[in-house]
Amino acid sequence: MTRNATQDDLAPIRESVHALCANFPGEYWRALDRKRAYPEEFVTALTKAGFLAALIPEEYGGSGLSMTAAAAIMEEIQACGCNGAACHAQMYTMGTLLRHGSAEQKERYLPAIARGELRLQAFGVTEPTSGTDTLSLRTTAVRDGDDFIVNGQKIWTSRAEHSDLLLLLARTTPREQAKSRTTGLTVFIVDMRAAKKNGLTIRPVRTMMNHATTEVFFENLRVPADAVVGKEGEGFRYILSGMNAERILIAAECIGDAKWFIGKATAYAGERVVFGRPIGQNQGVQFPIARAYIGMRAAELMVREAAALYEAGKDCGAEANMAKHLAAEASWAAADMCVQTHGGFGFAEEFDIERKFRETRLYTVAPISTNLVLSYIAEHVLGLPRSY
Ligand SMILES: Cc1cc2nc3c(=O)[nH]c(=O)nc-3n(C[C@H](O)[C@H](O)[C@H](O)COP(=O)(O)OP(=O)(O)OC[C@H]3O[C@@H](n4cnc5c(N)ncnc54)[C@H](O)[C@@H]3O)c2cc1C
Repeated sequence: MTRNATQDDLAPIRESVHALCANFPGEYWRALDRKRAYPEEFVTALTKAGFLAALIPEEYGGSGLSMTAAAAIMEEIQACGCNGAACHAQMYTMGTLLRHGSAEQKERYLPAIARGELRLQAFGVTEPTSGTDTLSLRTTAVRDGDDFIVNGQKIWTSRAEHSDLLLLLARTTPREQAKSRTTGLTVFIVDMRAAKKNGLTIRPVRTMMNHATTEVFFENLRVPADAVVGKEGEGFRYILSGMNAERILIAAECIGDAKWFIGKATAYAGERVVFGRPIGQNQGVQFPIARAYIGMRAAELMVREAAALYEAGKDCGAEANMAKHLAAEASWAAADMCVQTHGGFGFAEEFDIERKFRETRLYTVAPISTNLVLSYIAEHVLGLPRSY
């Protein structure tokens, strides 16, 4: 795979993701959804096939694929009706380690992640009080000899129960003593296997969809100083540098969701006969499907542009944000349209639509909410005054 893969080059990847996902049909996801259980077999299958190591360079045992290829993998998973949210973070969280970690950390973790022996699925940034205002987070890590002692709480730390490692953002210099507004926060790579016996508590948070998200509590958790990723105090910058990848990949998932909803609605509109004709013969039914398709295709172009800029090493902050925004809106519009097209059956569990509807709703809120994308564009692209 070349770095600038074309969509034609990606056909074999898409086909192999599709073949894997065919082993995980709607019944599989429905059963898990009822119990809010983790899709262990699905994640293992993706890991074994190497898909979750797509962005890990070959020198560390990954596939060294481009962002465009990684986005195609995530899109295809969703377009098949599966849910990549169970494991998507592994693709992008490791980027922080790759870009800012020491040679020793990369050697220790990346090959084991690529082999599927270690999972880096958890990403602890958001806290109950700080919310989107990351710089006001309160979890502290205080130096004590060769260790740091961590105290505080995170929320929405997804997949923490199913991950070995956690990428944690904590304050190491009190805000008033930090050199600048954006310094004083540090990224740690925390081995949760040891930490669980040593001051780390994980509590599941039940949500409207099956997302394996949690609250994480730190009570005098000792973390060795060699768990610091990059330079102490520079963590906010490192987390920001990983956000474009996260946005592009999640936008690609939204495109996959939108394709799934549009495919379902089109098929149903063609076969459901009411008043002696297929419902899809009525413009009142076909136009919303066409509108959802147009929205999805427009968003898809922005996702591809953002991915191309990212892999060319260019600044893609605006495009990654716009891609995430357009794609999340497109998938949500397609979800709503799909329920409407199915009438009452849109609510029936066995059609999978209500499940996907709940799952795709997340993406206008997380990993960044609509208002914050709009603020970014207003301030950084249009030059309007900062609003917060
Ligand atoms: C299921 C799920 C999984 C998640 N997984 C993770 C994870 O793995 N790791 C992690 O760290 N986080 C995770 N998150 C957190 C997620 O990134 C945040 O929920 C999201 O960024 C919004 O932050 P908040 O919930 O604190 O909302 P708040 O910051 O409290 O905001 C609430 C609302 O107010 C709006 N708002 C706030 N400030 C402004 C402003 N200045 N101008 C205009 N509007 C404003 C927001 O747009 C939002 O609509 C997850 C969240 C969910 C729900």
